[in-house]
Amino acid sequence: MDLPPLCGPRGSATLRRVEPEATPPRPLRLAVVCPCYDEAAGVRQFFARLAPALAELRPAVDARVLFVDDGSADGTLAILEELAQEHPEVAVCGFSRNFGHQAAVSAGLELAAGADAVMVLDSDLQHPPELIREFVARWREGADIVHGVRRSTADAGPLKRLSSAAFYAVFNRLSDVALREGAADFYLLSGRVRAVLAAMPERARFVRGLVAWVGFRRAELPYDAPARAAGESKYGPLRMARMALDAVLSFSVAPIRLATHAGLAVSALGALYLAYVVVRHLAYGDLVQGWASLLCVTLILGGAQLLFIGLIGEYLARAYTELKARPLYVLARPLAGPLWPADREPPRGPAA
Ligand code: UDP
Ligand code: MG
Repeated sequence: MDLPPLCGPRGSATLRRVEPEATPPRPLRLAVVCPCYDEAAGVRQFFARLAPALAELRPAVDARVLFVDDGSADGTLAILEELAQEHPEVAVCGFSRNFGHQAAVSAGLELAAGADAVMVLDSDLQHPPELIREFVARWREGADIVHGVRRSTADAGPLKRLSSAAFYAVFNRLSDVALREGAADFYLLSGRVRAVLAAMPERARFVRGLVAWVGFRRAELPYDAPARAAGESKYGPLRMARMALDAVLSFSVAPIRLATHAGLAVSALGALYLAYVVVRHLAYGDLVQGWASLLCVTLILGGAQLLFIGLIGEYLARAYTELKARPLYVLARPLAGPLWPADREPPRGPAA
């Protein structure tokens, strides 16, 4: 802006007020957390698609990849270390053994402190890296949680589909947080949601459930899951069942209530039956042959008791595990340094 001349009419010099130059905002820090377990066959292929997807976001977004090796036994860690050598934006950490997918995701969330947002995706190319830009766009529009929701999946057999549908139906009926069917571990979390989840001490972790539980503004992004790039799924029927049980028991006390209600009902029936036996004995005295029905009742009651003791045991076991407060995972190979230098600046919000 021009100011009037400083000295008299003769003065030809004008002072130009220097407008303070607006410092451009620093790039948004995006940590991309990729859990890997025995992914040696496909992880390079995965990174070959991830790297250009992230390069496309520059310079507005400064993305770092954080590979969490979950105790792989097939040389995955060595490949990841090579990737970290070749690409400065790649960081690697590795567990001392296989602690499970949920622990690997949790480690990633914890280690991504300082990020404005964290993207979590599988490293088998079932979560297309090209979609990360859409996740980031939704976050910049104001969503704290952007959840990928699977429209279709190329390599799930009828059994996996059916068991998955049954799991979501049961989970949503029993728990007070709603899980969207097909919402897998493919999501972007804002810095504040990441901080909340990383601070949660619970051990029987079902991160998807915690993401649903935590609240905040959310958006969904539909996607089609292709078949795995290479290797095999690590989630066989037994592991899936274990995870479903963990999920239901850590988000619902309905099963233990069911035990109480069923116990009450069975006892009431027993009492009625006892009344009938007493009346019949007094009236007719013909109950000698009743042993078979008695045996049935004993068996049914015994079975019900065992079942419910088992259920109570499940909760007790969980309470016990939480009490022990063991670390969720042990890092055998820690990160070489923080992803970003420590600063006092708070993480930038989703709409920034
Ligand atoms: N994974 C992991 N630890 C495990 C099992 C799996 O870190 O114990 C990783 C795996 O490398 C992949 C993701 O979790 O990146 C999803 O696993 P997978 O593809 O086997 O499951 P699916 O897609 O079949 O449900
Ligand atoms: Mg997979």
